[in-house]
Amino acid sequence: MIVDTHSHLYYPELKSNLDEILKRAQDIGIEKIIIPSVNIETIKEIIDISDKYEIIYTAVGIHPTDVKNSQRKHIKLIEEYLQHPKVVAIGEIGLDFYWDKSNIDEQKYFFEEQINIAIEYDLPIIIHTRNSIEDTIELLNKEAYIKIKGQFHCFSGNKENLEKILSNDNFFISFCGNITYKNYKKTEIIKSIPPQKLLFETDSPFMTPIPIKNKINEPANIIYTIIRLSEILNIEFDALVEIVYNNSYKLFKKLKGENKNNII
Ligand SMILES: [Zn+2]
Repeated sequence: MIVDTHSHLYYPELKSNLDEILKRAQDIGIEKIIIPSVNIETIKEIIDISDKYEIIYTAVGIHPTDVKNSQRKHIKLIEEYLQHPKVVAIGEIGLDFYWDKSNIDEQKYFFEEQINIAIEYDLPIIIHTRNSIEDTIELLNKEAYIKIKGQFHCFSGNKENLEKILSNDNFFISFCGNITYKNYKKTEIIKSIPPQKLLFETDSPFMTPIPIKNKINEPANIIYTIIRLSEILNIEFDALVEIVYNNSYKLFKKLKGENKNNII
């Protein structure tokens, strides 16, 4: 069974077709899907979706590129949703210096405040970085955050970044459909990751894998990314799926599913 740990199913092109999309997801073996939010409005939307569909779980948080359109008081609002049974993480949160470098301090403020909430409520974080991985790693290395657990989603860092991240046993790594592209250059980095540190994700509707490229991505396409990962890692597909399934439950402890032998 598979957990798609990152799908933005609230995008209109996916939400308008949700019944069919979730059926296709279940047909290929997806057991659970986590939808991360990016701001207060999307939190409300994803909570509604998770109430309606059993297989949907959520992460609540304010995305670094949404910091500019958010207010500090919004961070407090996140806490109102944390008792909801389908909320399994704080996310997606982090730093993004690609789209906007003018508000780095404010991005760090939002990131750290949300990390503090995650620690207080003992929840993992889903981390977004773009042109900011060094700053992100440095920030997470602070003594105060020693207990934080999380997922580096859509990882695009280098080997040195990876080594630093994996030196802390609390972190997991995931890759998107772009690893199936011909011009993807970082297979050596993937090879160096122990499968026990991997998670699966689509980041749909973005990052459509080959051979589906140029269409809107959806959770069922996760299969192509997993096939590519099993090739790169030289691990049989079913074996990889089983290891990563257990990883998903190890990090996202509030996920409820068929996984009985849960925490390793
Ligand atoms: Zn995302």
